[in-house]
Amino acid sequence: MLIVLDLDDTLYLERDYVRSGFKAVDAWLATECGTNGFLERAWHYFVSGRRNDIFNQVLRDIDLEDDGKVLKMLEVYRSHEPDIQLLPDALSFIRNHASTELAIISDGHSVSQWAKVRSLGLKERVKTIIITNDWGREYWKPHPRAFEAVQQGYLPGECVYIADNPLKDFIAPAALGWMPSIRIRRARSLHEDIPTPESCIEVGTLDEAAILFCKGAKGRNLRKRILCLT
Ligand SMILES: [Mg+2]
Repeated sequence: MLIVLDLDDTLYLERDYVRSGFKAVDAWLATECGTNGFLERAWHYFVSGRRNDIFNQVLRDIDLEDDGKVLKMLEVYRSHEPDIQLLPDALSFIRNHASTELAIISDGHSVSQWAKVRSLGLKERVKTIIITNDWGREYWKPHPRAFEAVQQGYLPGECVYIADNPLKDFIAPAALGWMPSIRIRRARSLHEDIPTPESCIEVGTLDEAAILFCKGAKGRNLRKRILCLT
């Protein structure tokens, strides 16, 4: 059996990465421009639900808006070495499985995603890690290429995907005939408010997902439990 995991908001909280990135940008702005207070302003916008133009908005607030500066801030944000940790349930879930039983499929900017993988120590713990953006933006989920790649050597019914975003994560595994996906709906995750599709099993943590797996007869057991739950 192959357990495939998403990264952001599945193994760690994406908001922790956002804050870590804002801190890096804050330090850069203080050094390069003598500007203080970016972190607090940007975080205020983020927790208020603002997305996509936070850098511009903060610079506008302090009369420093400049497209070149925004691009540089974006580069600092994306290339920083993040201060993030695996959530406790993610750490124990990964520890309880052999690296050969696990894979990761994640979208996102390649430099950022690989920095997260390094920071979380995942390379040593997960045999196959695919950052879809390494192939190009067109291969981000729901494109099936990454799922087809990790499935090599397994039957579709031996694979399961655990992820958090109902808008894109579960389309390809369902189309390939994988087991019903497990939707992890973490408190304070970015997509927490989006309902879980009926075709998925919802869990709040990976401890709950682990209950679906049982040593000895993992695939059969999960399928049996899924049949009971759905
Ligand atoms: Mg995610």
